Order: sequence, then structure tokens, then C-alpha cells
Amino acid sequence: MSGIKGKVIAVTGASSGIGEATATHLAAQGARLVLGARREDRLTEVVDRITAQGGSAVGVIVDVRCREDLKRLTDAAVDRFGRLDVLVSNAGTMAVSPFDELRQDDWDAMVATHVTGLLNGIGAALPVFRRQRSGQFVNVASTAAYVVKSPLAVYAATKTAVKVLTEGLRQEAGPDLRVSLISPGYTNTEGVGKGASPEAAAAMVGLRDEIAMPPSAIASAIGYAIAQPEGIDVGEIVVRPTAQG
Ligand code: NDP
Repeated sequence: MSGIKGKVIAVTGASSGIGEATATHLAAQGARLVLGARREDRLTEVVDRITAQGGSAVGVIVDVRCREDLKRLTDAAVDRFGRLDVLVSNAGTMAVSPFDELRQDDWDAMVATHVTGLLNGIGAALPVFRRQRSGQFVNVASTAAYVVKSPLAVYAATKTAVKVLTEGLRQEAGPDLRVSLISPGYTNTEGVGKGASPEAAAAMVGLRDEIAMPPSAIASAIGYAIAQPEGIDVGEIVVRPTAQG
């Protein structure tokens, strides 16, 4: 199946920002969506808006750090739509801070959300894709996976892990599966600076307000990777504002 229309696509982190924009973009092109996040009110708003516009979407409350939750997300796709064509692993947190602040809970959250969360998605979707003999992983990393800037080291390390895991998965995927990495630069979302140390948050929000792209720019890149004909595997897309250094 090529294109987007009719594909069953699960998106994590769909309650705001890039995930929400991706869901909106894919729904407008006829995808059938299974949307995951923790905030029920925000997720319901996204599902209701898509449904009101004639799209097809269900919401599943998931914490990607929990293996069983990812299984419930992929099960929901199969139960509701009979298959799963794409898993977009987008959930993330940018609670960055200098090491000296010893915000170890935030370090743990970034590792658990970006690394364990991605692995939980692979663990849940891979058996479904193997059974179907088709499927696509679309993993959201960051330009921080390419350049480390203080105080983003922990965040950058976890996003570098996303990049490495994606490439390893691609090498093992075989001819039936596709594996894509999308790395955004500064994108105008509520997640920028959220939970970060005050100084880091101010710097990030300042840059965001000055140069950031709309989340629809990333949604389009994700849509491009998904829309390619079978047999065409988009490996890696980096999208950043032209003003980003
Ligand atoms: P948002 O904060 O708007 O979105 C983050 C999403 O992830 C929310 O839907 C949030 O939902 C969800 N999420 C966070 N933790 C979990 C969890 N444990 N389980 C399930 N869902 C979770 O930020 P963005 O849209 O900007 O971020 C999306 C992705 O893009 C992230 O991976 C981020 O690292 C990446 N990115 C963003 C950039 C930017 O400049 N904005 C730049 C580069 C990469 P909820 O709280 O409801 O669970």
C-alpha cells in the first residue's frame, strides 16, 4: 500500500505539538489514526477535532515508559482497524538543565521516554509488522542528535540513541519493513523549555519565539516518509529553521 490514505497509523505524543500536527496532517489525507499520550483531556480534544472534520481517530492513554501501554496502543490499532501500517514514535520531553543542578529525575525521564519508550514501541509493533509482512517505523529524534550544545547533553544523548537504534533497526528490518528517522530543529511547540531549568528554558523559549518553524513543517516531513511507494525507504530527514545555527 503506498500513499497515506487508508493507512493505519499510531502516533505517540499526539496530545500537542509535533504529534498533534502530524495527526492532523495524516488525518486530512485519509489515514486511520490511533493516538497515544498521557493527558486525556488534550488527547480527547485532538481526537474529537479530527473526528468532527470527518477523519478517523481513536485515542489511547499511554505512557511510553510502560511496555504494556505500547502494547495496548498497537493492540488498539489491530482491534479497531485490523492492522497497523506505521508507528510514529514521537513522545518526548525537553526538561534540560546543567549537570550541576543534579536533576536526576529529569535525566531518568528523558532516558525512559526517548530510549525505553522507543524500544517499547519497537517491541509492540515489530511482531505485528512481521506477521503482516509490512510496516513502517518513523522515529522522531532531533538536531540535538547531531550537535551537542550545553546544557542539552542528556537530551542529546537520548536523541543520539534514537538515531543509532533507528539505524540498527533499519539494518535488521529486511525487505518488508521501512524505518525512517525525522530530526526536527527548533519547532514552535509548548514543549520547548517545559520543565527545563529557568535559564535554559528562557534561552530555548527566546530562540523558539525568534526562529522556530511551525510543527506542520515536521508533520509534512513525516507524511513524506510515509507516503513513499512500497520499496522506497526514506532513511533520514533533518528539518530545521534556516536561521538555526
Ligand atoms: P510537546 O511537549 O508539545 O509534545 C510532546 C508530546 O509527548 C506530548 O503529546 C506529550 O503528551 C507526549 N509525551 C511526553 N512524555 C510522554 C510519555 N511518557 N508517554 C506518552 N506521551 C508522552 O513537544 P514537541 O511536540 O516539541 O515534541 C515532540 C517530539 O519532538 C519530542 O520527541 C521532542 O524531543 C522532539 N523535538 C522537538 C523539537 C522542538 O523544537 N519542539 C526539536 C527537536 C525534537 P502528554 O504530556 O499528554 O503525555
